[in-house]
Amino acid sequence: MSDQRIALVTGGNRGIGLGIVEGLAKENYLVIMGSRNIDSGNLAVDFLEDLGGNIDMMQLDISDNRNIVRAAKYVSKTYGKLDVLINNAGITGKSEASLKECDIQEIESVMKVNYYGPLKMNKAFMPLLRKGNDARIINISSGMGALDDLFGEYSAYRLSKAGLNSQTILLSNDLQGEGIKVAAMCPGWVRTDMGGIDATRSIDQGADTAIWLSSATEMESGKFYRDRKVIPW
Ligand code: NAP
Repeated sequence: MSDQRIALVTGGNRGIGLGIVEGLAKENYLVIMGSRNIDSGNLAVDFLEDLGGNIDMMQLDISDNRNIVRAAKYVSKTYGKLDVLINNAGITGKSEASLKECDIQEIESVMKVNYYGPLKMNKAFMPLLRKGNDARIINISSGMGALDDLFGEYSAYRLSKAGLNSQTILLSNDLQGEGIKVAAMCPGWVRTDMGGIDATRSIDQGADTAIWLSSATEMESGKFYRDRKVIPW
């Protein structure tokens, strides 16, 4: 089994995920880039060509349980362990509606990716994380799911991230004593396809805390982070 630290980043083909893949590969991790679309994943690997030796692209749609199970089998066969799982892939959904206006199908489709995706990933990859060294799960959440910010538009997204935050606390408590830490983090408002061009942060800034949490000794399990600091749930 390799001594090199191995990280898996979902939605690693673009946006903040690609920034995390790049940052971890520069820190000499072996990074498994999860990409829903193979062509897009190959393009992303080409974009990071100088770091290519540290990146292994793997097709991964986190809304498809069979795909997740197949991915876990591949990682098990190829590497035999996982040290860091970064649940980054996410969607805002098609609707900006408040909860009283939002239709249930919209909520279900956002929950399928943002809430059930990480839940299924964590279950499928837990045996590999148990074989990892100083293993961590990092859930890329959002301040829009913080309890004191649950109002207004994007209700499906807010509910999904508030749920992801709850998962983070529950799983962290479950794993106490097993040596696997779990944290959630908000990247801030980042210039990606999701964040838009008016966002205040670069992709490097948005990716920084996830890269730091992947190995920081100071990381506290069961906490919510932004800018390398604990923030309120
Ligand atoms: P983005 O640019 O829209 O990228 C989203 C990524 O998620 C893409 O790689 C996309 O893959 C992937 N994805 C979506 N559905 C997927 C699925 N079913 N299976 C696998 N991958 C899937 O978004 P981003 O801004 O980088 O956001 C990354 C994370 O940060 C998200 O969880 C988001 O909620 C969070 N966040 C972002 C901001 C911000 O301002 N940007 C703020 C707070 C939190 P495809 O290329 O195949 O679509």
